Amino acid sequence: MSIAVCVVCGDTAEKAYRIGSFDEFKCPNCGYYSVNGQLIEEMEAANQVFDTERTQQYLMIHSRPGQVPAITRDETTKHQLIVEST
Ligand SMILES: [Zn+2]
Repeated sequence: MSIAVCVVCGDTAEKAYRIGSFDEFKCPNCGYYSVNGQLIEEMEAANQVFDTERTQQYLMIHSRPGQVPAITRDETTKHQLIVEST
């Protein structure tokens, strides 16, 4: 575990080890979730961020006991989770 910035809300979060192509985060606001590492890199390059409210809602809906909700490119498109950084 290391300290990181939550890619969803920008608060301080814990970053777990990378699982496959996914980075896991533990955030006090957004909970335990994983994000595709390549997606994060592409978003940074394109100056894009997650819509905090919509993404938190997405994570809440997709949270299951014993399962970490994952954010993939397909899901961000389907649920319109990405916005341009201002
Ligand atoms: Zn967060």
